[in-house]
Amino acid sequence: MDVSMNVSTLSRQGVARVGDRRLDVSVVVPIYNEVESIPRLIEAIATTMQASGLGYEIILVDDGSRDGSVELLKRLALDRDDLKAVMLRKNYGQTAAMAAGFYYAVGDAIVTLDGDLQNDPVDIPMLLDKLNEGYDLVSGWRKQRQDAALTRLLPSKIANWLIGRVTGVKIHDYGCSLKAYRSELLADMNLYGELHRFLPALAFIEGARITELPVRHHARQFGQSKYGLGRTIRVVMDLLTIYFMKRFLTKPMHGFGVFGLISILAGMGLGIYLTFLKFGLGMAIGDRPLLMLVAILIIGGVQLLCFGLLAELQMRTYHESQNRPIYRVRDVVGGGSQR
Ligand code: UDP
Ligand code: MG
Repeated sequence: MDVSMNVSTLSRQGVARVGDRRLDVSVVVPIYNEVESIPRLIEAIATTMQASGLGYEIILVDDGSRDGSVELLKRLALDRDDLKAVMLRKNYGQTAAMAAGFYYAVGDAIVTLDGDLQNDPVDIPMLLDKLNEGYDLVSGWRKQRQDAALTRLLPSKIANWLIGRVTGVKIHDYGCSLKAYRSELLADMNLYGELHRFLPALAFIEGARITELPVRHHARQFGQSKYGLGRTIRVVMDLLTIYFMKRFLTKPMHGFGVFGLISILAGMGLGIYLTFLKFGLGMAIGDRPLLMLVAILIIGGVQLLCFGLLAELQMRTYHESQNRPIYRVRDVVGGGSQR
C-alpha cells in the first residue's frame, strides 16, 4: 500500500509544518487511566506511521487520569519529537478530550482512535488512502467487535440503527473511535456533550462526504471500560439534539411555527363549532371536555409559535456571534478564487 504517493492530495492549503517537519497526519488519542497501554500504543502508531512515509504527530490528551498516565506521558513527550501530550485539568469526558486534541492538531488529516489498544493503528494508512479518494470523513467499522454481547453489542446495534434512521447517515458503527477526517472539516465543528460519536452526523450536516471501512478490533487487554449501560440514555438525548440541529438549525420556525399554527387553527375550528352550539342551538357547553381542548390547543399553539420566534432570534445570535455562515463551501474555482 503506497500512501506516500497520495501525500500531495491530502493537503489543500499547502502542507502543514512544525519546525522543518512536514505534517500530513495528526493522530489524536484520548487517555483516561490507560497507563499500561500507553507505551505499546505509541510504539504501534509510530511504527505504522513511519512505514507509511507520511509526516505525522501523535497527540495524546490526558483526561484527568489518576493512575500515573500523566507522569508517563510527560516523560515520553519530552523524549520523543513525534509526541505531543496535552494534559487536561480534570476529567471532562472523551468528547472534550478529543476536542482538545483537535485544537492542538496541525496535520492536514486527523485520525482518532482509543487509547486502550482496542483499535489497531495498523489500519490508519488504509483510512488515509480512502480519505484521499475524495472523502472528508472515513469511519471505522468494527465488523468483528470484541466486547460483551449483552451490555455492549446489543445497545450499540440498536443505537446505530436509531442514529442512522434519525440522522440519515447510513454507517454501521458510530461508536468506533477509529476515524479519519480532513482537518478543515473538524475546524468547522463544535463539540458538546457526548457528541463525538455523532461526528459523522454533524459532518453530514456540514455537507461532508462520508464513508466507512471495516477495521480490526481487539478485546481490551489492560484496565477497564469507562462506560456502562448508563451511556445509552445520554446517547439518546444527544440524538434528539442532533435531530433538531439537522432539521431546524437554520429554520426553527419551520418546526415550532408549523405545529403552533396547526394547533391554533384546530382550536379555532373547534371553538367556532362550540360557539355555534351555544348561540345557534342554545346548548350548554360549559361542562364539555371539548371546551378544555379548545383552550389547550389555542394556548399551546400560541406558545409554540412564540417559541419558534425566540428560537429564530437565538439561531441568528448563534450564527452571527461566531461569524458562522449558514452554508459550507467545498471549493471555489477560477476568478482568482477571492471574494
Ligand atoms: N476516555 C476519556 N475520558 C473519559 C472516558 C474515556 O478520555 O472520561 C477515553 C479512554 O481512555 C479510551 C477512550 O476514551 O481511550 C474510549 O474509552 P473506553 O475504551 O472505556 O470505551 P469503550 O471502548 O469501552 O466504548
Ligand atoms: Mg475501549
